Amino acid sequence: MIQPINLFSVLSSKKITNSNNIQPKFNVNFATKPDSFEKTVPQEKILAPAYVPFLGYAHDEPVRALGNIICPCCGVEMMTQKQMNAVSKDLGNTSAKAISTLKNYEKYMHPVEKECFNLMKDWSKSKPDASLKDLLQENKAPQLEKLQAKQNSILDTVDEISKQLSSTEQEEVKKVTDTTRKFVSSTDKEIKFKRKTFLKDIDDLKSKISNKEIYTQIHKEAEKMPTSQNDVSAFIVKYSERTHQEIGERLVKLSVGTIEHIKPRSEGGRNTVSNYMLECGGCNHERSSIPLGDWVDSHPEMKENTQKYIDEVIKRINAGEMKGFSFYPAAVARTLYEQSDGKIDVKVQGLNVEE
Ligand SMILES: [Zn+2]
Repeated sequence: MIQPINLFSVLSSKKITNSNNIQPKFNVNFATKPDSFEKTVPQEKILAPAYVPFLGYAHDEPVRALGNIICPCCGVEMMTQKQMNAVSKDLGNTSAKAISTLKNYEKYMHPVEKECFNLMKDWSKSKPDASLKDLLQENKAPQLEKLQAKQNSILDTVDEISKQLSSTEQEEVKKVTDTTRKFVSSTDKEIKFKRKTFLKDIDDLKSKISNKEIYTQIHKEAEKMPTSQNDVSAFIVKYSERTHQEIGERLVKLSVGTIEHIKPRSEGGRNTVSNYMLECGGCNHERSSIPLGDWVDSHPEMKENTQKYIDEVIKRINAGEMKGFSFYPAAVARTLYEQSDGKIDVKVQGLNVEE
């Protein structure tokens, strides 16, 4: 639901300007327009999407309310926070109970989570009363072995690439890979491999390697280190140390729709509806503040999925949802186009609502 109260107080108390000195054009059709709104805001029919002037407007309710819609990035249907809360409440203490609850949300799971869930279903058959943690602990060993093999193979490749460097530079790389190998193979619970630490060590090599092209190759290889988001073994190993509750929640948590700032806030992206998309927690977290243009290069499926997302939004507006926000598809399409340097070119078509 839209809660216009805060917006009105902002609008009526402040003079509205924006950095481009463009006269704000409002086309917002709130059901409960106070008198002051009419007086302070020029009413015009035409709207330039790039300049939707919601200054100081942090309301994300209309976008959040899209709820079960496909993620414009990965294309998986998203879950609502309300559904997530229902999962949290109903995981019980046994794998049998957790699985019967999670089955209702299986269609929202991402590929790795779905695969892990299928493994858990299998393992639970003979031990329905065991917790999810117990199941993961019991089946961890072969997964750990697989994970270590992948991690070591990446380290081997990094060493191989570094052979093109001078011997001093090669030594620097080897320091990192040798230390990392120790962490990867450690049986001591206190000495754990941390992907973040490894990548930071690789980052630190940047100033020590003169050949930038080779450094980039090393960096690219290092980034292949598996994560629990993209690798089943990494998921099982990591979450075998967590609680039953956490494991159950994690299977669907990253499928919950979150507000994505198309232009990241850290880059000056504004809190405006035209800068918002509902995006799954997984993609949102993974993209972080990577510029959209770069992100699309590594996630080309986004071109198709943003189109599906906008098509669905238009369908819903035509069906009477998102009242007062029929400008949203065009505004978001413009933001996507600008922020991706033209790589995402969504067509806005079929909108039957005029406001
Ligand atoms: Zn996604």
